[in-house]
Amino acid sequence: MKVMKFGGTSVGSPERMKEVASLVTRTGEPTFVVLSAMSGTTNSLIEISDYLYKKNPEGANEVINNLEQKYSVHVDELFSTDEYKLKMKDFLSEEFNYLRSFTKDLFTSFEEKSIVAQGEVISTNMMASYLQEQGVKAVLLSALDFMRTDKNAEPDSMYIKEKLSAIMEENEGYQVYITQGFVCRNAYGEVDNLQRGGSDYTASLIGAALNAEEIQIWTDIDGMHNNDPRVVEKTEAVRQLNFEEASELAYFGAKILHPTCVQPAKYAGIPVRLKNTMAPDAEGTIINNVLAQKKIKAVAAKENITVVKVKSSRMLGSPGFLRKVFEIFESYQTSIDMVATSEVGLSMTIENSAHLDDIVDELKKYGTVTVEPSMCIVCVVGDLDWSNVGFEALAMNALKDIPVRMVSYGGSNYNISFLIKESDKKQALQSLSDVLFN
Ligand code: ADP
Ligand code: ASP
Ligand code: MG
Repeated sequence: MKVMKFGGTSVGSPERMKEVASLVTRTGEPTFVVLSAMSGTTNSLIEISDYLYKKNPEGANEVINNLEQKYSVHVDELFSTDEYKLKMKDFLSEEFNYLRSFTKDLFTSFEEKSIVAQGEVISTNMMASYLQEQGVKAVLLSALDFMRTDKNAEPDSMYIKEKLSAIMEENEGYQVYITQGFVCRNAYGEVDNLQRGGSDYTASLIGAALNAEEIQIWTDIDGMHNNDPRVVEKTEAVRQLNFEEASELAYFGAKILHPTCVQPAKYAGIPVRLKNTMAPDAEGTIINNVLAQKKIKAVAAKENITVVKVKSSRMLGSPGFLRKVFEIFESYQTSIDMVATSEVGLSMTIENSAHLDDIVDELKKYGTVTVEPSMCIVCVVGDLDWSNVGFEALAMNALKDIPVRMVSYGGSNYNISFLIKESDKKQALQSLSDVLFN
């Protein structure tokens, strides 16, 4: 069975939903479909929650009313029979009354999680009903019945596999199985989610749980491009990526994939195919175990990076120094992306600066601490095995006119990362594209 995930733009209008319906049924084979919320909906649900946190039910109600009106038009356009129009209007009225119920009581992050889950609940209900109206044997499965995270907020793969297998057995014989991306329960059974953009992760986890033949991520572009198409001109789709290369790109900012989405597929050895809903016949990108030798594949960038530098005499001479420093970051649940060491200093980059002040206070016992915000990691990905001569020099040369604060090379065989100022990002990415690909 194939798993097909469609993102927000791919289900962003009744017209697009009809296109998705035709894509998921075109082979006639049983298919597992994961949907995001219609584009813009999750943002609106977060806006509603923000109003409720600020004890502004009028603000929340206004967003709810606008959203309800929009969906009411969508339903009229999507469905053709009175029976289904009526059924969906009832469903929507229940949904929006549910959203309104939150405007009356105490509002915490628990309520927020329930609210933001509704985008996917609505889109999957609409799609399942539309397919049924078209005479397709489709069934809607609630992600809340099988997607669960553990006490470390990591997906509980064993639980997901067991639960989903049982659910699939109970629902044998359907052509299309549909579920919500993004939505899950936590270890305590509460409604939770897999973070923004997390529907990709859902698809990969489901693919691994079902031992799918392929996981397809359908979006609004014809595959992973060799640079960020939002920043650089003349980017091109990369036809094939190794799992490791794709992970590095996703982690370091290629928005087309959720950072953790590749992992479950990689461990299960299931190929991931990136496809364009707007151009279904375009080849897209296949992500698998193959490593194309001696090729630089793509560049990605991640902003909002902070450098923390500890300057200390006798740093490397003192055993355990790195451990003590890293433990401080660990105790504040803050991961470090890049590291550079010398005899007298240690520079590290972090993305999450929520606990920066506390971290800096604790680091002060080991030396002088300096902090530089607004930095950007630029990551060049491909076959960068150290025995291949000249590739790092090529990347380095592309950045010859840009101040580079840190370089990380040799951490894996697949990447070289540069830390630059955020304000130099566009120039750096363009120059890398010119030198490496054009
Ligand atoms: P979806 O809603 O389908 O999950 P996303 O918006 O999350 O879609 O991801 C697709 C977008 O990712 C594209 O429209 C593109 O602007 C952006 N993007 C950023 N970097 C890349 C890249 N290297 N290759 C392709 N798309 C990229
Ligand atoms: N709807 C969620 C979001 O907008 C999840 C997703 O689209 O992947 O972040
Ligand atoms: Mg996405």
